[in-house]
Amino acid sequence: MRITNIRRGRIFRICLCLLIILPVLYLLFTWSENQRNSLPEVRGKHAALKRQRTERPELIVGFGNFEPPNDDQREGPGEYGEAFHLPSEENFKGESSEMEYGMNVYASNKIAMDRAVKDTRLDECKHWNYPHDLPKTSVIIVFHNEGLSVLMRTVHSVINRSPKHVLQEVLLVDDFSEKEDLKEKLEEEVKSFNGLVRLVRNDERGGLIRTRSRGAQEARGEVIVFLDAHCEVNKNWLPPLLAPIYRDRTTMTVPIIDGIDHKTFEYRPVYSGGHHYRGIFEWGMLYKENEVPKRELKRREHNSEPYKSPTHAGGLFAMDRKYFLELGAYDSGLLVWGGENFELSFKIWQCGGSIEWVPCSRVGHVYRGFMPYNFGKLGEKKKGPLITINYKRVIETWFDEKYKEYFYTREPLARFLDMGDITGQLELKERLQCKSFQWYMDNVAYDVFDKFPQLPANLFWGELKSVATDTCLDAMGHAPPSIMGLQHCHGHGNNQLMRLNAAGQLGVGERCVEADKQGIKLAVCRLGTVDGPWHYDEKTKHLLHRANNKCMAQNPSTRQLSLAHCDVNDGYQQWEFKEIKPKW
Ligand code: UDP
Ligand code: MN
Repeated sequence: MRITNIRRGRIFRICLCLLIILPVLYLLFTWSENQRNSLPEVRGKHAALKRQRTERPELIVGFGNFEPPNDDQREGPGEYGEAFHLPSEENFKGESSEMEYGMNVYASNKIAMDRAVKDTRLDECKHWNYPHDLPKTSVIIVFHNEGLSVLMRTVHSVINRSPKHVLQEVLLVDDFSEKEDLKEKLEEEVKSFNGLVRLVRNDERGGLIRTRSRGAQEARGEVIVFLDAHCEVNKNWLPPLLAPIYRDRTTMTVPIIDGIDHKTFEYRPVYSGGHHYRGIFEWGMLYKENEVPKRELKRREHNSEPYKSPTHAGGLFAMDRKYFLELGAYDSGLLVWGGENFELSFKIWQCGGSIEWVPCSRVGHVYRGFMPYNFGKLGEKKKGPLITINYKRVIETWFDEKYKEYFYTREPLARFLDMGDITGQLELKERLQCKSFQWYMDNVAYDVFDKFPQLPANLFWGELKSVATDTCLDAMGHAPPSIMGLQHCHGHGNNQLMRLNAAGQLGVGERCVEADKQGIKLAVCRLGTVDGPWHYDEKTKHLLHRANNKCMAQNPSTRQLSLAHCDVNDGYQQWEFKEIKPKW
């Protein structure tokens, strides 16, 4: 088509007009927008949006805004968290699945995926209103060779008991499982949720610690919640966990963990009666729980409100996703299992965040009979006990010198372990300008010393060997209270590593060696004490029980241990501490 000159002129004029008019219109529009925004009520709205993030949950007379209706009448095995017992002819199958999984997956297969559980919350919990626009949440479940029905019950409980508009996704991260059930069958289950459940798989075993860090990377929600693959969340569990994070993104929140029996899947509270406990630790880095000190309880107005806790057990917690990553996720030098709960706890507190336990959020967890998996190739590369190596990395990063000594006093062999390189961790601590461990002990974990006082140095440690029989004092792997025995000295393991400290306490692991009429016993150390009755004389080789003024002795014929009148000529009363030289 030909265009005439006249037409060309007209098009040119129109373009010119548009060139002038459009910017003017744009300026006019933005000016009016600015004007609008500066109107008092709109400014108020913006401020309100900001203010909302500092809004506190509120206790009301009626039911809270996220409170679900009561479960209708349900019938079936295990409903309402009742124990389910297999018919006796199937016991064998149940037991063999227990051997395989550390829990009775065969029984679990017979319990509904969406069964009801007992509401274990305090009554008051039903009456809290929470902010409506809570952050979108990814629930991350990492798993290795778990029972499919147990895993799927976890998923169902999350989906059924979380507000729809808050749950971004359930993210399953498979840590290189081998079980057939966890292949296509699981994929089909996942598909049935139409995208709400996502599955990613590791292409080699990462261990639970690294796999959780991967889950956090992959997650799409603003907040992440970690759960083990054998949990059932209880009524209205999520809003109370999210509310503190909504107000302050540097808060980690932890639900109160109920127990699910590994044989019968009975759901039952570990703690009840409105008494609150919180996470601490002892100096060998075993996780412990302690009644919440009055000082902390008093800070709150209502007994169902969250309270601060020095540590957490590890498996179940909620955190702002970016904050978790800003803190470096988990130290990637920690292997498979253990110590990561302390690493994250110390890091959060010392670097400016906080941990709160939330009484109104309850989640059931199956405590297994035993750990059914090994550490695979991950463990083989390392020399020495993997978990203690993890602890060493954590304490070398976060403890002050004085506190490191308590750990090495309690775990003398840890001094010899190769913990790998922690410069990255120390740099992070520097970069985030984290506070000292002393600060943490003074302000957060101030109740630890009440239960686990500063440890006096070991005067002697190692195997405690009988001069007469060349055998060693041995805790025999029994739970206290139990009788101590004598065994062939084997130079390793926790059962023969004795420590006599400067205050007379004879310890083995976290336990104490004591004596009564029945003999020499393995006992639970009295909480809050680090002293004991023992005195060792290097000349006579006697181990004197000062309270009774008697010596540790061995019966020559029965080999049994007891206290006897001290006799310097009796070889059966002579003992030697022999420091253990670790083989790694
Ligand atoms: N897990 C994993 N990789 C491992 C070991 C464990 O993904 O190498 C998963 C496991 O399936 C579970 C979670 O990590 O969902 C926590 O492990 P576990 O329940 O054995 O720890 P516990 O509760 O005994 O502390
Ligand atoms: Mn678990």
